[in-house]
Amino acid sequence: MLSRATGYAELIGAGGIAIGVTANSVYPDCKPVYMYALHRMMNLAIRGVELHTPLLRMTKAEVIRCGNALGVDFNITRSCYNPRETMACGECDSCILRRAAFDEAGVSDPISYFKPIQLDNRFKHLG
Ligand SMILES: [Zn+2]
Repeated sequence: MLSRATGYAELIGAGGIAIGVTANSVYPDCKPVYMYALHRMMNLAIRGVELHTPLLRMTKAEVIRCGNALGVDFNITRSCYNPRETMACGECDSCILRRAAFDEAGVSDPISYFKPIQLDNRFKHLG
Protein backbone atom coordinates (compact mmCIF):
# COMPACT_ATOMS: atom_id res chain seq x y z
CA MET A 1 0.00 0.00 0.00
CA LEU A 2 2.80 2.44 0.87
CA SER A 3 4.55 1.63 -2.40
CA ARG A 4 1.39 2.54 -4.28
CA ALA A 5 0.99 5.70 -2.20
CA THR A 6 4.60 6.63 -2.93
CA GLY A 7 4.08 6.22 -6.67
CA TYR A 8 0.89 8.25 -6.54
CA ALA A 9 2.59 10.97 -4.48
CA GLU A 10 5.28 11.23 -7.14
CA LEU A 11 2.66 11.32 -9.89
CA ILE A 12 0.78 14.25 -8.35
CA GLY A 13 3.91 16.00 -7.03
CA ALA A 14 2.81 15.69 -3.41
CA GLY A 15 6.34 15.64 -2.01
CA GLY A 16 5.45 13.32 0.84
CA ILE A 17 3.12 10.79 2.37
CA ALA A 18 2.13 10.38 5.99
CA ILE A 19 1.26 7.24 7.90
CA GLY A 20 -0.22 7.03 11.38
CA VAL A 21 1.87 4.24 12.88
CA THR A 22 2.22 4.47 16.66
CA ALA A 23 4.88 3.53 19.20
CA ASN A 24 3.10 0.51 20.64
CA SER A 25 2.07 -1.12 17.38
CA VAL A 26 2.23 -4.92 17.43
CA TYR A 27 2.74 -5.17 13.67
CA PRO A 28 6.30 -5.67 12.32
CA ASP A 29 5.62 -3.37 9.35
CA CYS A 30 4.75 -0.52 11.72
CA LYS A 31 7.96 -0.59 13.76
CA PRO A 32 10.47 2.29 13.60
CA VAL A 33 13.14 0.12 11.96
CA TYR A 34 10.71 -0.85 9.20
CA MET A 35 9.70 2.79 8.64
CA TYR A 36 13.37 3.78 8.42
CA ALA A 37 14.10 1.00 5.91
CA LEU A 38 11.01 1.85 3.89
CA HIS A 39 11.99 5.50 3.70
CA ARG A 40 15.47 4.53 2.50
CA MET A 41 13.96 2.22 -0.12
CA MET A 42 11.57 4.96 -1.28
CA ASN A 43 14.52 7.29 -1.80
CA LEU A 44 16.29 4.68 -3.91
CA ALA A 45 13.38 4.55 -6.33
CA ILE A 46 11.92 8.04 -6.20
CA ARG A 47 13.33 11.42 -5.30
CA GLY A 48 11.32 14.09 -3.58
CA VAL A 49 8.74 11.94 -1.77
CA GLU A 50 9.29 11.95 1.98
CA LEU A 51 7.76 9.52 4.46
CA HIS A 52 6.25 11.24 7.50
CA THR A 53 5.49 9.30 10.68
CA PRO A 54 4.32 12.01 13.09
CA LEU A 55 2.81 9.58 15.62
CA LEU A 56 5.66 7.08 15.73
CA ARG A 57 6.79 8.07 19.24
CA MET A 58 3.27 8.26 20.70
CA THR A 59 1.15 5.36 21.97
CA LYS A 60 -2.36 4.92 20.61
CA ALA A 61 -3.75 6.18 23.92
CA GLU A 62 -1.56 9.31 23.69
CA VAL A 63 -2.77 9.92 20.13
CA ILE A 64 -6.38 9.63 21.31
CA ARG A 65 -5.79 12.01 24.22
CA CYS A 66 -4.12 14.50 21.85
CA GLY A 67 -6.93 14.15 19.30
CA ASN A 68 -9.51 14.60 22.03
CA ALA A 69 -7.80 17.79 23.19
CA LEU A 70 -7.78 19.06 19.59
CA GLY A 71 -11.47 18.29 19.12
CA VAL A 72 -11.10 15.40 16.65
CA ASP A 73 -14.44 13.87 15.69
CA PHE A 74 -13.57 10.22 16.36
CA ASN A 75 -16.96 9.22 15.01
CA ILE A 76 -15.60 9.63 11.47
CA THR A 77 -12.49 7.53 12.14
CA ARG A 78 -12.15 3.77 11.63
CA SER A 79 -9.46 1.21 12.36
CA CYS A 80 -11.26 -1.99 11.34
CA TYR A 81 -9.80 -4.55 8.92
CA ASN A 82 -13.16 -6.27 8.41
CA PRO A 83 -16.02 -3.73 8.47
CA ARG A 84 -19.62 -4.98 8.37
CA GLU A 85 -21.57 -2.52 6.24
CA THR A 86 -21.09 0.79 8.09
CA MET A 87 -19.94 -0.71 11.39
CA ALA A 88 -16.53 -1.81 12.64
CA CYS A 89 -16.47 -5.58 13.19
CA GLY A 90 -15.40 -5.48 16.84
CA GLU A 91 -13.43 -8.70 16.37
CA CYS A 92 -10.28 -7.92 14.40
CA ASP A 93 -6.98 -7.03 16.09
CA SER A 94 -7.30 -3.42 15.02
CA CYS A 95 -10.77 -3.05 16.59
CA ILE A 96 -9.57 -4.65 19.82
CA LEU A 97 -6.45 -2.45 19.98
CA ARG A 98 -8.54 0.65 19.22
CA ARG A 99 -11.01 -0.09 22.00
CA ALA A 100 -8.19 -0.83 24.44
CA ALA A 101 -6.46 2.45 23.55
CA PHE A 102 -9.66 4.46 24.01
CA ASP A 103 -10.14 2.71 27.35
CA GLU A 104 -6.55 3.49 28.40
CA ALA A 105 -6.94 7.11 27.28
CA GLY A 106 -10.13 7.49 29.31
CA VAL A 107 -11.99 8.70 26.21
CA SER A 108 -15.28 7.23 25.03
CA ASP A 109 -15.06 5.56 21.59
CA PRO A 110 -18.10 6.92 19.74
CA ILE A 111 -18.27 4.39 16.88
CA SER A 112 -20.58 1.39 16.78
CA TYR A 113 -19.21 -2.14 16.69
CA PHE A 114 -20.96 -5.09 15.06
CA LYS A 115 -19.85 -7.31 17.91
CA PRO A 116 -19.25 -5.75 21.33
CA ILE A 117 -15.68 -6.16 22.55
CA GLN A 118 -14.91 -7.80 25.87
CA LEU A 119 -12.05 -5.60 27.09
CA ASP A 120 -11.06 -8.13 29.78
CA ASN A 121 -10.05 -10.57 27.03
CA ARG A 122 -8.77 -7.97 24.59
CA PHE A 123 -5.22 -9.24 24.15
CA LYS A 124 -5.74 -12.96 24.77
CA HIS A 125 -5.66 -13.97 21.11
CA LEU A 126 -2.73 -11.65 20.21
CA GLY A 127 -0.39 -13.78 22.30
ZN1 LIG B 1 -12.61 -4.79 13.06
